Amino acid sequence: MRLSFYILLLTVLTSCSVTEKTDTSFYKIDLKLDVKKQLLDANVDLTYYAEENQAYSLTFLLHRNFSIETLTCNNLVKYTFNIEDTSRFPFTPEAGMLTIYLSKPLQKGEALKINLQYAGKIGIVSQWGVNRITEEWIELGMYTPWFPYQPEIENLTYQVDVAINPEYQVIGMGKTKKMDDHWQISQESPKRDIIIMAGKEIHTKDIQKNGLSVDINFIALSDSTAVDIMEQGLWILENYRQWFGDIKAHRASIVIAPRSMGGGYARRGFVVLTTFEDVDYYQNRIGYFKYIAHEFSHLWWSKAPPDSWEDWLNESFAEYSALIAVREKFGNEPFVNWIGEKRKKSKDLPAIKGINRMDKNANSVLYDKGCILLHELELEIGNDKFLQLLKQLTIKKVNSTEQFLKVLTDLSGAEVSKKFEEKLNM
Ligand SMILES: [Zn+2]
Repeated sequence: MRLSFYILLLTVLTSCSVTEKTDTSFYKIDLKLDVKKQLLDANVDLTYYAEENQAYSLTFLLHRNFSIETLTCNNLVKYTFNIEDTSRFPFTPEAGMLTIYLSKPLQKGEALKINLQYAGKIGIVSQWGVNRITEEWIELGMYTPWFPYQPEIENLTYQVDVAINPEYQVIGMGKTKKMDDHWQISQESPKRDIIIMAGKEIHTKDIQKNGLSVDINFIALSDSTAVDIMEQGLWILENYRQWFGDIKAHRASIVIAPRSMGGGYARRGFVVLTTFEDVDYYQNRIGYFKYIAHEFSHLWWSKAPPDSWEDWLNESFAEYSALIAVREKFGNEPFVNWIGEKRKKSKDLPAIKGINRMDKNANSVLYDKGCILLHELELEIGNDKFLQLLKQLTIKKVNSTEQFLKVLTDLSGAEVSKKFEEKLNM
């Protein structure tokens, strides 16, 4: 199969800092891209909300090829940009560390307005091969990282005004508008990344039904294949809505990036796949369906902390949701095959409870073993009760295993819940 089914694991002058109780940092960015020179120039106004109490310094990741022209913020003592040491975050190996020192500490939740301007040439970000500025394709996100990024920021919103050579079209994660002389991408619902893409002939198709919408963006793909993928995506959202309850975000996007390196990745409601031939797609249509179904399900399953073992509430549920969707759409056979494979992979794995997210087995524990546990639970309590359980979990915004077990107890009794808890420990 050509598609790598892995997700790279896989964000002048200032006014005074104000105290606001919110945790959504906002980026307003003027971005200039000179594609021929592979040059990026950014002017960033960031309203940053402190993640910790007593923060005398803040560290952001930023691609080490950039040179910082100006940086200003309230109570600034100095800033440093360390491009010598290894990046502290494994998914941004080419990042330098930008540290801002303050004369007065920030309290948790306190806002700080920061302005910075920087420029540099990045070409292809070599380690992953995902992010790049090339004549054929521009793709920028946290892997670069092209904006001052902190992995700890779980919620950010943005407006990016992109000026680029006129022959390019710009798309991105968010609403895209063509202005007179530039493009604007805005994102109002909180994300963990800022994704901007551009190419010369991007085709876009979209489909709407009962308030749900899916769009697909591609360069080299036949229209009929694009439409097939998009329709599958809509089918997935419609069924999920029925099974798991309504959601606020009614829009999901798929991008087929014209590159073979780097693999696909996804953010809530935004899926990037690497390019493939039509024939590959039809040979592995259920595989693509399952991949998209997993990623779209994160519109429902994303409330638990992703950096702890409780991430099973995101990943095991997303994976099993995708399998339920496969069963519903393509019948029992592919479903049973996947369950069989996952059962094999689950043998001798450590317990879900307490698994370190950096453990080499963590992915299999969450994607395979957790999925099998949910399957066994479905067999035990029956399909109807199981779907009721899923719906209750999303309605009650469950984000911890403790809450999950309580919902399970209320629905199916203490004995079922206790047995499940024991399995999480095994
Ligand atoms: Zn996932």
